[in-house]
Amino acid sequence: MTAIRLDSVSKTYDGKYPAVNDVSLNVADGEFMVLLGPSGCGKTTLLRMIAGLEEVTAGDLWFGRTNGTELSPKDRGVALVFQNGALYPNRTARENIMFPLRMAGEEPAEASAKAAGLARILRIEGALDRLPRTLSGGQRQRVAIGRAIVRQPRIFLMDEPLSNLDATLRTELRQEIGAMARDLNVTTVYVTHDQIEALTLADRITVMRDGRIEDVGTPDEVFNDPATAFSAGFLGTPRINLMSAVVRVTAHHRVSLDFGDQSIPLPPIDRRSLILSSHDGAKVIVGARSDAFTVAAAGSGPGQLAGKLRTLEFHGNQWIAFVECGVEMLNPDLVGVIALPRTPKRLAFADGGPRTRHAAPHLSRLTSRLAGLRSKARTRLGRLDLSTEPEPTATATHRRADLVLEINPAAGLQTGSRVHLAVDTSRLHIFDESGHRVDRVTR
Ligand code: ATP
Repeated sequence: MTAIRLDSVSKTYDGKYPAVNDVSLNVADGEFMVLLGPSGCGKTTLLRMIAGLEEVTAGDLWFGRTNGTELSPKDRGVALVFQNGALYPNRTARENIMFPLRMAGEEPAEASAKAAGLARILRIEGALDRLPRTLSGGQRQRVAIGRAIVRQPRIFLMDEPLSNLDATLRTELRQEIGAMARDLNVTTVYVTHDQIEALTLADRITVMRDGRIEDVGTPDEVFNDPATAFSAGFLGTPRINLMSAVVRVTAHHRVSLDFGDQSIPLPPIDRRSLILSSHDGAKVIVGARSDAFTVAAAGSGPGQLAGKLRTLEFHGNQWIAFVECGVEMLNPDLVGVIALPRTPKRLAFADGGPRTRHAAPHLSRLTSRLAGLRSKARTRLGRLDLSTEPEPTATATHRRADLVLEINPAAGLQTGSRVHLAVDTSRLHIFDESGHRVDRVTR
């Protein structure tokens, strides 16, 4: 067991593409850390740098008190499991698991006993004397995990180990990986783009985007107290509603969130009221998960939104309603990448407001990734203007102005009817235009 520390670590391929960009992260001794993010955000590259399979372009990597940046993979005490844990086809499951021990000179009887012990934890005792081709995908992956961990690594690295399995096997093996990591108490870094795996397995989750860290916290923290709009959008089904709003400050410093025809007052005791009270006219992004709304009688309280119920969907354990409220909705994936429409004012906080200082190195990659959007998109990153002149329609929005929310079927609502929604303001997350919380998250 050992702690891992990444100190401003970057990886640039071919001198051009920053796959990982200035990442600093601590993984505690015995912690289960999940790297979560969309395809291409740099999770695997980060994992491979920890394993010593990729050179670090800049920054330092520490294992406990040892600077491991230049250590060879075999001196790092790490074990790695990939999507397809390739096995030796002509060796039985037992021989596969024993192999690293035998290579290290361990006696066959002792190695076999260790393999049997691990097989019990991984629930493959019955498959130990079979060849890989006779095993199911899940069993093969268990053998691969057994082989990786049998030498008791100090660090266990897993790169989407469940992604080739069917849903049932995934759930089963996910639970076993969680139990095994707890039993063995080995420092683990686990890469996935699956939010359920992240939420169920992790002690802490690191949410990544475009080679950078968006958020780090316990599953509860990143889900219920997300640092950025992207992080809020990556976790949760249905996805969080991100609504474009303008801050209005009335007499006596009362703050409300203006959605066009409708507005929601923030209680004066809400600390966001204090933060926003000097930002009249500023544009913000308001995040509300689907369960932040309750169907209410018209005018039954402050902080309501009203709209037309367009669609009702039955999801087995819940009903999901799509309500057209005339509110401009934003796409979480684009917040902080494509700027919002020009606004009279931008939020500027004491810490410098929208964080754009690292934007420049991303531009070439972003430009190519956004090629399809480019004709329409305003290619600005936060406050950084690029040479391309933006078109006035360019926004990080989708035009379908539907709020997505859970409803109680007992409310007896019909599609096409007008609904009034009480909004629990304590459950709203308010972000600035760059997608960072206006009440900054520090943890
Ligand atoms: P996925 O979930 O699809 O595996 P990821 O988050 O693990 O994605 P990486 O595989 O780390 O992402 O890739 C990060 C970026 O680095 C991507 O833009 C990718 O194209 C690029 N990249 C990865 N490996 C190389 C390489 N050997 N040469 C050049 N670019 C690379």
